[in-house]
Amino acid sequence: MGFLPTLDPSSADLIIVNTCAFIGAAAREAVAAVLEAAEVKKPEAHLVVVGCLASRYGRELATNLPEASLVMVPADYHGFTRAVADLFDQFPPPPKGPFETWERQPGTPPWRAWLKVAEGCNHRCAYCLIPSLRGPLVTRNMDSLVKEAASLAESGVLEITLVAQDLTAWREGDKNLADLAQAIAQCGDFSWLRLMYSYPERLTSPLVKALAQVPKLVPYLDVPLQHASPEILRRMGRSGSDPLALIGRLRSWWPNLALRTTLMVGFPGETEEDYDQVVRLVEEGAFDHVGVFKFSPEDGTEAATFTGQVPQAIKERRRRGLLARQRRISLALNRARVGTERDILVEGPSDDSELVMTGRAEFQAPEVDGLIYFDGQQPQSGQMVKARLTKAGHYDLAATLI
Ligand code: SF4
Repeated sequence: MGFLPTLDPSSADLIIVNTCAFIGAAAREAVAAVLEAAEVKKPEAHLVVVGCLASRYGRELATNLPEASLVMVPADYHGFTRAVADLFDQFPPPPKGPFETWERQPGTPPWRAWLKVAEGCNHRCAYCLIPSLRGPLVTRNMDSLVKEAASLAESGVLEITLVAQDLTAWREGDKNLADLAQAIAQCGDFSWLRLMYSYPERLTSPLVKALAQVPKLVPYLDVPLQHASPEILRRMGRSGSDPLALIGRLRSWWPNLALRTTLMVGFPGETEEDYDQVVRLVEEGAFDHVGVFKFSPEDGTEAATFTGQVPQAIKERRRRGLLARQRRISLALNRARVGTERDILVEGPSDDSELVMTGRAEFQAPEVDGLIYFDGQQPQSGQMVKARLTKAGHYDLAATLI
C-alpha cells in the first residue's frame, strides 16, 4: 500500500499493535501497549489493533478502546488492506509487484529470525484459550517455508528458529518436521536452525533420531511438559505418559540435547502429592531451562469452571519452590560447562553496560534462556565467534574470545 516501516511510532501514519491475550496478564499488557501507542501517535494517524486480544474481546474491545480506528481478528486478515484503505483518503504510490511477493519486515535483529511454520492447535488442553483464539492447526507448505528461509539466509540471518503452537504436528503428505528441517538446513548459508515448542507425545523415536541427524539443527528442544502427575495431566486433557521416562529417551536419541520445559502449578485439584511429583521431575529431570507459570482461570476455558481452585498464595509458594530448585540445577549445569569452547552468536551490548557484549551458545534460545557475557576483548553484534566459557552464574555465563 506504499507504507514504509518506521521505528518511531510518533512519526507513523499507521500504527498496528499485534496483541496476545491467552491469559489475563497478557491481555492487560496488550491493552497497555495499545494505550501507549495511542499516547504517542500523531492526531491524524490511525491505530489498528489485531491479534488475539481482538479475537477474545471483539466488539467489546472496539467500544472500550475508542483510541483504535480499527479492531481486526486474525480470521479477517484477508480483508486487512481494504479495511486499512478505508481509513485513509489517499496513499503513497504502491510498491511494485503483488502483495504476496512483498518481503516481511522482521521485528528481530538482522542476524536471527523466527519462521512460523503453522498456526492454531488441534489439542484441547483444558486451561488453554489458544485453539478458540487461533482455530485448528493450519500448516504452511514446505516450498514457501524453504523459500522464506533461503531469503532470510541470503539477507544475512545466521539463526532461524522454527515456531508454531505445536511444531511437531507439522506435516505435508508423507513429510514430517525432520524432512522440513532437513530442507531448510540445506536451503542457504546460515549457521543454526532451532525448534521451539514440541508437544511431548509426538516426539517419537524415528522423529527425534531423524532430527538429531539434521545438519545445522542445534541440539535443543523446548518440550512444555506442564505437569508430572498423571491425574493432573489427565484433567488438563494432556498426554499422561511418564515425563521423566520421556526426557530420558529424548537424551538417549539425541546426544548433548539441551532441554527446556514449561511447568504449571496450581491447576485445579492439585494436591501437595501432585506438586511433589513436579518437584521430583525438576530435580531428576535436570533441565537446562525451566519456565514456571501459575494456573490462570481464563473465561472460556473448561478449567476455569473446575472445582478445587488453588489459592493464589499456594500457587505462588509452589512456583517459587520449583524456581529455587531449578536455580541450583541450572548453576550446576553451567559450572560443568566452564572451560569448554563454544560457538557464540553475539547479540549486542548488555542491558547494564554498552561496553559489555552478550551472546548465546547453542543451548540458549533467543529471548527466553540465559546469556553469555564477554570479558576482555569484545566482539561485534551479529557475529558468530569462538569463545571459552570462563564463569558460571545461575542463568548466565561469562566467556573470553578465542
Ligand atoms: S497444545 Fe499448547 S496451544 Fe494447544 S491447546 Fe494445549 S497448551 Fe494450548
